[in-house]
Amino acid sequence: MCGIFGAYSPMGKKVLEDVYLGLYALQHRGQEAAGVAWVNPQGRISSIKGSGLVHLALNQAELAAVETSCAIGHVRYSTAGGSELANAQPLTASTSKTSLAVAHNGNLTNAGGIKLFLENRGAIFHSATDTEVILHLMAHQPHKESLDALLDSLTRLRGAYSLAMVIGQDLVAARDPWGFRPLVIGKRDDVFYVSSETCALNLVGASVVREVEPGEVVIFGRKGMDSIPIPVDVKRRYGCAFEFVYFARPDSVISGRSVYEVRKELGRKLADRAPCPEAHLATGMPDSGTIAALGYAEKSATPYEQTVVRNRYVGRTFIEPTQRVRELGVRIKLNPITEVLSGKNVVVVDDSIVRGTTCQRMISMIKACGASQVHVRISSPPVRFPCYYGIDTPTRVELAAARMNLRQLEREVGADSLSYITEEDLIEAIGLPCGEVCTACFSGQYMEGGEDNEPEL
Ligand code: SF4
Repeated sequence: MCGIFGAYSPMGKKVLEDVYLGLYALQHRGQEAAGVAWVNPQGRISSIKGSGLVHLALNQAELAAVETSCAIGHVRYSTAGGSELANAQPLTASTSKTSLAVAHNGNLTNAGGIKLFLENRGAIFHSATDTEVILHLMAHQPHKESLDALLDSLTRLRGAYSLAMVIGQDLVAARDPWGFRPLVIGKRDDVFYVSSETCALNLVGASVVREVEPGEVVIFGRKGMDSIPIPVDVKRRYGCAFEFVYFARPDSVISGRSVYEVRKELGRKLADRAPCPEAHLATGMPDSGTIAALGYAEKSATPYEQTVVRNRYVGRTFIEPTQRVRELGVRIKLNPITEVLSGKNVVVVDDSIVRGTTCQRMISMIKACGASQVHVRISSPPVRFPCYYGIDTPTRVELAAARMNLRQLEREVGADSLSYITEEDLIEAIGLPCGEVCTACFSGQYMEGGEDNEPEL
């Protein structure tokens, strides 16, 4: 999962500080690296990238002073390629026609095949990212204008891509025809923005214009905003359900749906699906289960209490890259409040169970504080399949719900009871037609053709 942000002012206003701020608001989407690229006064592209959080990787004061009216940025969590700086984005390149920079959120499922195809024709790749194939595909079409080369390149891609690009002097946004990852357009005065989430538009004071449609390329240039469809026919859309469950910030709006409202509704549905009359209180795992727990408590008329305090200066467990760090992370970041838990029957709401380690440790921590019973309620269906579209879920054998049935998993994590919502509940809470929502990590129903089906080149 990554975050992308771009800004363009046709009136020549400086925009790089806004890109920094946008990335700051999207920090939850990736903490491994951050970078920006912009059109410099010579008309070429400059970039800066660094490891770690936005404020460590980039210098706000320096960026604020840069004279540029067209810039993009990226926060990275690696899903393709390792975490080294060579894989940080934006990636930049010069073709015979123009200068390019690209920031990508998502994962291309046929990047391996395309890379082999291009390497056999002499291409030399500089990074291990799937994103670089986009630049090479464009460079391999020197006879075409840049936008035509981009469109042709995009038609060859499968999987998930939301892109912010600099092409020449223009800002370009593109979203795959399946609509996996969110991408939204904003505007403040004469400045246009593109962002992974609306929360970043709020920070720079921009209002939402609309989403970049699945299968759309939007160009921001001297003449304003223009739009071109990507000529790919798709049978249905695959907006990521997990963005609503976990990834996106609750103050964002995706496809017209408030992420906060969806999470609360998931909790209400969970209360209907899996009531717990013996509970003295309901609580949420901070921060991912908190809003669903509020919905659960409201619907079941169970008192809501905060029972676990999260150290806000530690990254979210699910997106830590190694098992060692993941295991340490649970202890470092969560501390239960004994005085609230002692002698109580507790309903604990969380967004998902991935490997089961976090859930197991959380339950044993809560029981060690004297809780009499711990009933776990999960505000998504069981995650049984890996994601190939830009989320770093483990392989099937590592997924707890793929290895065990419900009762086995209940015993494994040490819960007095364990329940999930259903896929139907999830779709209803999101409120979009089921033909527009991806639920592949719950159902195994990947995009048409399956994840291994690569297009002809
Ligand atoms: S497989 Fe799951 S995490 Fe991946 S895009 Fe689909 S719903 Fe989202």
